[in-house]
Amino acid sequence: MRLTELLKTEQVTISCELFPPKQGAQLENYKKTVAEVAALKPAYMSVTYGATGGTSDYTVELANEVCNVNHIPALAHLTCASSTKEKVASVIRELKEKKIENILALRGDIPEHVDFPLPGQYTHASELIADIRAQGDFCIGGACYPEGHPESETIFTDLDHLKEKVEAGCEFLTTQMFFDNNILYNFMYKALKKGIDVPIVAGIMPVTSRAQVKRSIALSGCMIPPRFAAIVDRFGDDPAAMKQAGIAYATDQIIDLIANGVNHVHIYTMNKPDVAGAILDHLSYIYVREG
Ligand code: FAD
Repeated sequence: MRLTELLKTEQVTISCELFPPKQGAQLENYKKTVAEVAALKPAYMSVTYGATGGTSDYTVELANEVCNVNHIPALAHLTCASSTKEKVASVIRELKEKKIENILALRGDIPEHVDFPLPGQYTHASELIADIRAQGDFCIGGACYPEGHPESETIFTDLDHLKEKVEAGCEFLTTQMFFDNNILYNFMYKALKKGIDVPIVAGIMPVTSRAQVKRSIALSGCMIPPRFAAIVDRFGDDPAAMKQAGIAYATDQIIDLIANGVNHVHIYTMNKPDVAGAILDHLSYIYVREG
């Protein structure tokens, strides 16, 4: 299923994200995690590409597991900064073979110790989006940053480039994590004013340990509001309490988003079906799962 069919409706959707293993030996365990998350009946599941400790080698395989084994629509991430155009073309061919219709097209982090960009290779996600479009009939999404991408001078220059991404063929956007919903509402207003009118899926990271807060800030540069900082200060040294509070905070963010008309939410599941399951249990009348 093409995700825009879901995302253009008023229907509430909650999706989950997984990352692939570092080594092939771990693949069977990761497939079990896919099945456990699929059993929660998210609207779709995404699989990252070379992010959060996983490698790019198993993204297509896990995305195949999502849609062709567990029968949940799959969104395969694909990055280009550390890839050649030939490698990207071969991944696109694999995705076509497996009938995976949805791609989240990303630049990825700039590789260290190399002259970037390499001559004739990708510089920005917009170029990847145009290439994917030229090579197949995919539903293509991209990333956006409610607080601005860390490399951008201002949120406005970032929005100019986001507009280019949409014009290149990006049909929906998924946001970077944020911990204050007002930041998202403000971003959505600015995006709309720029003429960016594709569906925006709100990315929510349930933070369940103090270490994860540090990692999340280091990765995304996102702001931690005082209300959430107080939770980490109070419960950060008690793993069970921090997990419970983190799940409650993420749930509260999602309820507020849906109450304010943001109908599409993506949970950065971090391969933790118990955390995603606890959030979805709290939303059982808000996000009604079929089947
Ligand atoms: P771009 O859209 O190319 O933007 C990167 C920067 O370049 C921005 O500052 C932008 O304003 C600027 N820019 C864009 N176009 C131009 C232009 N024409 N001229 C000048 N500047 C320009 N990383 C992974 O490695 N694997 C993943 O699976 C992954 N999944 C992600 C999922 C989501 C929802 C998000 C939000 C991020 C994800 N990332 C992933 C991280 C992402 O790859 C990084 O944030 C990366 O630094 C930027 O990727 P992008 O696609 O947003 O890049």
